Amino acid sequence: MANPSLLILAGDGIGPEVMAEVKKIIGWFDAKRGIKFDVSEGLVGGCSYDAHGTPLTDETMAQAQEVDAVLLGAVGGPKYDVLDFSVKPERGLLRLRKEMDLFSNLRPAQCFDALADFSSLKKDVVAGLDIVIVRELTSGVYFGEPRGIFVEGNERVGINTQRYTESEIARVARSAFELARKRNNKVCSMEKANVMESGILWREVVQEIHDKEYPDVQLSHMYADAGAMQLCRWPKQFDVIVTDNLFGDLLSDMAAMLTGSLGMLPSASLGLPMENGRPKALYEPVHGSAPDIAGTGKANPIACVLSFAMALRYSFSMLDEATRVEKAVEKVLADGVRTADLMGPEGGVPVSTSQMGDAIVAALDASL
Ligand code: NAD
Repeated sequence: MANPSLLILAGDGIGPEVMAEVKKIIGWFDAKRGIKFDVSEGLVGGCSYDAHGTPLTDETMAQAQEVDAVLLGAVGGPKYDVLDFSVKPERGLLRLRKEMDLFSNLRPAQCFDALADFSSLKKDVVAGLDIVIVRELTSGVYFGEPRGIFVEGNERVGINTQRYTESEIARVARSAFELARKRNNKVCSMEKANVMESGILWREVVQEIHDKEYPDVQLSHMYADAGAMQLCRWPKQFDVIVTDNLFGDLLSDMAAMLTGSLGMLPSASLGLPMENGRPKALYEPVHGSAPDIAGTGKANPIACVLSFAMALRYSFSMLDEATRVEKAVEKVLADGVRTADLMGPEGGVPVSTSQMGDAIVAALDASL
């Protein structure tokens, strides 16, 4: 059987720095576990613009469509702020998401015990938290027509339209149920069926897909405003939450911040299954290119490392190996290893990006 294939697009700023630590882990899997990935690399964002005059070449786009998973670092930087909108670094990322049709955005909120003090919530509310928000990413109110600012009589009116088709709801529901089967078999769907017709349809379709295809998964429904309240009150009641583009935008940012630093947050964007059954997939840290610390060795590579762990779990079904990486991160943090962004008020000496990567590799060694 062919090795799993991975396209690495490290991008700009701290992107290549954090990606270097993921490459150490990929090398570790090859050397110590006999798991080989066919890794190719390409350019995205500002570095692609510098080399080719475009933030993503057609060749790299085609490569992304071919591989089992894309792992992206970050794009952007002040140098590129003056560029025309059509060639800005972010356009490369948007093109990848659009052409791969990545409609299902997975944003985990996982709180490592050693960092529970970082949350703005009480420690016992967040310690051990491990949930995933599945946000519909390519439809809903951010895309619906009509949209615009119009003149009506003697005043302006701003219009956006929430619009969902059955098939758009069904495919993101399936994505959430599949995810739940790889976790704790529990999904909570959130909408506003009490005041929105699109919410009524959302609830009906999610329930239908559940009853026909995933009766083994435990499904509940909640109004999104109540869901926001419950996420702050007792987030550990949830496992997988599935919701639309707008509510998912808000709820996933809120849930992510339950757990502390931006340098810790991974994400995945998934599309439809390919011929080999694997979903089209792009994994990336939530953070940007952090130009303020690029080149200083201060970047925390954990978000990128955990994004790779998500690829192991969701693209390659290597659940044990994904857990192994996550446990290695947990051990390193429990041992008190901290990059600068994770330093508490008690202070201490932070490790560099590379030292954090080495510590994770050492923890992987210790796991054997
Ligand atoms: P940012 O996420 O790059 O940085 C915000 C703050 O968090 C900075 O102080 C930064 O130093 C810190 N930070 C971020 N990641 C960190 C890490 N791994 N370790 C330690 N500290 C970290 O957001 P920004 O400053 O608003 O944007 C900078 C550039 O990144 C912009 O050009 C923006 O367009 C781009 N951006 C790209 C993405 C992406 O590639 N997906 C996402 C957001 C922003």
